[in-house]
Amino acid sequence: MSGAGADLFDVIIVGGGPAGLFGAYYAGLRGMRPLIVDSLEQLGGQLTTLYPEKYIYDVAGFPAILARALVEQLVQQAMQYNPVVVLNEQVRHLTQRDEHVLEVETDKGAYRGLSVVICAGAGSFTPKRLPGVNCQEYEGRGVSYFVKDMETCRDKRMLIVGGGDSAVDWALNLLRVTDKITLIHRLGHFRAHEDSVQKLHESPVTIRTFHELKAVHGNTHVESATIFDNRTGQEDHLEVDGVLINIGFSTTLGPIHDWGLTMDKEGIVVSSKMETNRPGVYAAGDVVSCPGKLKLIATGFGEAAIAVNHAKAFIDPKSKSFPGHSSTLVPKQREATR
Ligand SMILES: Cc1cc2nc3c(=O)[nH]c(=O)nc-3n(C[C@H](O)[C@H](O)[C@H](O)COP(=O)(O)OP(=O)(O)OC[C@H]3O[C@@H](n4cnc5c(N)ncnc54)[C@H](O)[C@@H]3O)c2cc1C
Repeated sequence: MSGAGADLFDVIIVGGGPAGLFGAYYAGLRGMRPLIVDSLEQLGGQLTTLYPEKYIYDVAGFPAILARALVEQLVQQAMQYNPVVVLNEQVRHLTQRDEHVLEVETDKGAYRGLSVVICAGAGSFTPKRLPGVNCQEYEGRGVSYFVKDMETCRDKRMLIVGGGDSAVDWALNLLRVTDKITLIHRLGHFRAHEDSVQKLHESPVTIRTFHELKAVHGNTHVESATIFDNRTGQEDHLEVDGVLINIGFSTTLGPIHDWGLTMDKEGIVVSSKMETNRPGVYAAGDVVSCPGKLKLIATGFGEAAIAVNHAKAFIDPKSKSFPGHSSTLVPKQREATR
């Protein structure tokens, strides 16, 4: 927990994908103090997790933008108002503490807010683990599923496991900090962008197709790994400092089903104000079900703005749900803080 536990937030945003990030920006614009909680180690939701290197063509104002770049812009926009961000925590429970206070309980802590906006998309992501391999023993000690800081891999001998875009992209990206990279994949071909696969074959990365991870070894930290050829069973022992597993993610709405929200097969049922059936609890983005719903970034942005502005009017009935125009509001805010 980030020391945020004792505070009372105006709005707690569950999920830091595009809808949650834009919601956090809008909360700041409305003078609200937001907290964003996400189960992932990084902000950006599906864009960061599933397709960081793909172009998006249908976000207003951007004829084409890389998913990763859109997340950077959204984070920059949201951070102007210094929201508190808690990562790597899955929200498990949503409880009414008293007439005005809602409590969001994660696997690691609890946070209190006057309103909640659920922007949980397809649900919380968890990295897929390799069944039957002793990787869990070494998580945080050389085995990882994300690269938070490439510098931690500088000059290290890295073993990357996987054959999709994520594994291939990381093999190429990590070349910026180390040239000692081995990529293993259980199949004979990669399921990544053709262009990335071509770059991979032209790169100094050692590629071992038809190979799988059998075991990780080391004392306090990863020191080596055993891999095997799945056609012959032939084993090989590699001296490595780190193992990066990129074999995909699973998503689950899981705990959200137990929050007493009206749901249908598309997600959380909301009104035109993005209200759920629980007072003070709103939802936006892919997680919502409403007539005409489209699961797109563009619609999530609009829904997040609607949800947060109505949450503002909920916690402060004297304020309007319509915020006015940012072109008027922001210069006034800047004048006031001068
Ligand atoms: C391959 C691919 C390509 C796509 N291309 C496009 C495109 O070109 N244009 C377009 O508009 N859309 C595209 N989409 C869809 C788009 O990515 C989604 O509409 C968008 O990500 C939804 O945003 P969101 O913020 O609602 O949810 P998400 O992006 O899913 O983010 C939800 C976040 O909530 C977190 N979360 C969920 N539950 C919990 C919990 N209990 N506790 C804590 N955190 C939680 C998750 O970890 C996640 O980070 C694409 C999707 C895919 C998979």
